[in-house]
Amino acid sequence: MKTTRSKQLFAEALRYIPGGVNSPVRAFRSVGGQPLFIKRAKGSRLYDVDGNSFIDYVLSWGPMILGHAPAPVIKAITRAAANGTSYGAPTEQEVRLAQMITEAVPSMQEVRLVSSGTEAVMSAVRLARGFTNRDAILKFEGCYHGHTDYLLAKAGSGLATLSIPDCPGVPDDFTRHTLTAPYNDIATVQRLIQAHHEDLACVIVEPIAGNMGVVPPRDDFLANLRELTRAHGILLIFDEVITGFRVHYGGAQALYGVTPDLTCLGKIIGGGLPVGAYGGAREIMRLVAPAGPVYQAGTLSGNPLAVTAGIETLKRLKTPGVYRKLDERAAALAEGLREAAKKAGVPLIQTRVGSMLGAFFTKGPVVDYASAKQSDTKAYAKFFHRMLNKGVYFAPSQFEAAFLSTAHTPSDIEETIKSARAVFKSL
Ligand SMILES: *Cc1c(COP(=O)(O)O)cnc(C)c1O
Repeated sequence: MKTTRSKQLFAEALRYIPGGVNSPVRAFRSVGGQPLFIKRAKGSRLYDVDGNSFIDYVLSWGPMILGHAPAPVIKAITRAAANGTSYGAPTEQEVRLAQMITEAVPSMQEVRLVSSGTEAVMSAVRLARGFTNRDAILKFEGCYHGHTDYLLAKAGSGLATLSIPDCPGVPDDFTRHTLTAPYNDIATVQRLIQAHHEDLACVIVEPIAGNMGVVPPRDDFLANLRELTRAHGILLIFDEVITGFRVHYGGAQALYGVTPDLTCLGKIIGGGLPVGAYGGAREIMRLVAPAGPVYQAGTLSGNPLAVTAGIETLKRLKTPGVYRKLDERAAALAEGLREAAKKAGVPLIQTRVGSMLGAFFTKGPVVDYASAKQSDTKAYAKFFHRMLNKGVYFAPSQFEAAFLSTAHTPSDIEETIKSARAVFKSL
């Protein structure tokens, strides 16, 4: 594979941008080698600056559920751009997107639009603290909620306990109020809630973990979280930045039938432009400024281009049968990969919820961050590079999800499986 131009650009990028990238995982550090520079994308395909093309299962880390550059979305944002790109004043489109979100996710009676998932989560946690008048929060190891200081705290060792910041620049003080527990471990949650319920504002969780690879919730995990938090006046926040409009039009909460107090969205609701959102019961949302005292603002919040992309994307997702088709295609891919790995004698644990897929090179099972980390990242790195050489672009990290779009065709899936057969045999 020719990568001359990507290499040149990366060398240049390193002169001006830390690590050569504007978001760390893009740099290929965990699989080795150098990132490819992308020139354009269409449907299920990425095209790089050296003229290579790839079937894309990263999809900008989730947003591009209709595939790249879907004609109706591009047409709508082109039209919107001609009317100006930002006003700093309300628009009708913002009302429409908010309306669509609240209709799709009934637990979000009111919704505030922001510009990223990070901002949505940060604001939701502030609101939870303001509403409950408590400071502590509980998160799960391996769950990513954006790069807010106190959410970068990952894990205490062994028994989950008050955590230490993992990141220079985050004062100990800032994570003093962050408790962590292993994902899917309700006994630890119970213990922590028992000990800290008077100070716990919220429990925040990815209802399907998508940032340690894909780790689905165990049977009653979410329902138990709901019960425990409700019993103690603690708010339950679902971070559905990935799962919202991904696994179901109503998000993971519709899929599992568990209703959180607050929900965070991002990725898909911006159709590839920067949008995030948080929302919940009116009683809670009425505390957000200017309706209430919990301050939160944004110069580009509800940006007309981004909101237009979101509306057009959600419209397409509302078409009957969209999620069934995504699920069928994803199931075919998962099954093909499973068989190929088995035939080649490669231990592979597959996880999947709808069009969100994980593949761990381990004998498994994978139920939390600790077990996810048992997987063989060197084997994944080899798999990644060999697939890339065959024109298939999976995430450059074992701990990221693979996504399908409505633009992925059965022949894309077949081609991927065929390549995987050869690659698994070579491992
Ligand atoms: C991507 C992601 C975020 C952060 O969103 P950004 O738009 O990157 O700030 C938050 N939570 C989850 C679950 C995510 O996957």
